Amino acid sequence: MSLKIWIDGKLVDKADAKISVYDHGLLYGDGVFEGIRVYNGKIFECEAHIRRLYDSAKAVRLKIPLSAGELKTAMEQTVKANGFTECYIRVVVTRGVGSLGIDPNKCANPSVFIIADLIQMHAKEMYEKGIAVITSSIIRTHPNALSPRIKSLNYLNNILARIEANDAGVADAIMLNEEGNVSEATVQNVFIVRAGQVQTPTTHDGILEGVTRGVMMQICRKLGIECVEKTLQRLDLYIADEMFLTGTGGEVIPVTKIDGRSIGSGEVGPITRRLKDAFHQRTRE
Ligand code: PMP
Repeated sequence: MSLKIWIDGKLVDKADAKISVYDHGLLYGDGVFEGIRVYNGKIFECEAHIRRLYDSAKAVRLKIPLSAGELKTAMEQTVKANGFTECYIRVVVTRGVGSLGIDPNKCANPSVFIIADLIQMHAKEMYEKGIAVITSSIIRTHPNALSPRIKSLNYLNNILARIEANDAGVADAIMLNEEGNVSEATVQNVFIVRAGQVQTPTTHDGILEGVTRGVMMQICRKLGIECVEKTLQRLDLYIADEMFLTGTGGEVIPVTKIDGRSIGSGEVGPITRRLKDAFHQRTRE
């Protein structure tokens, strides 16, 4: 059975789910999106994702032609139409069809589409073994150029870092910001553990404020594990006891090597293991 895609109010077969080559989402990366998971038939952290989507749209002066409630219903419809109880949802809002030329005023109507499909970011055994990463030579976009807090369709910054990771034969790259401090991985937030304390870069270090990052901070609180938002240098990653990344697609993935150096013991650490299990449990609640 063909996958059903929701596009501008209609569910259509994947082969028929098409947008115009004049859509400014494609021509200029003019648009915003969200990636959301469904566990046990329920949209995980739905409100947080919807809020971030509307915030991103507002930040780029794009009006989403649906209310938050209508959007949630459309997501649920799409998941149901494909018979999924566990999946990944991609919601994309583009500036819509316009003429050649960047002026968004030339685009009459934004376009919205929703894909529900399966996704696997890391091989299963990597959640036990941990992945290797590098630090990228590509810095994260300066907040005054295009804020990383906006989840826009401009991912070339992250893609260039990912290409460096591919070339180095590792799973992901850590991006530093314009000050040389740690921002985030290409599509995941960074956490380290140092002397029992969990640390993650602050929202002013050039990161997307990950929904999974927020959930992880809540989990730490609940388990009585101290978690702080703190500006981190690359050296902090090198001398960390443990490290992991969080994101909707990758969930909680341990990191055991960075720039060829072993992190801590070189094996997945006890706090990472505990938090990974607690996250898994949280998604099944
Ligand atoms: N940073 C970037 C650049 C991302 O694209 C993502 C994935 N949305 C994340 C962090 C993690 O965010 P979340 O936990 O909301 O998926």
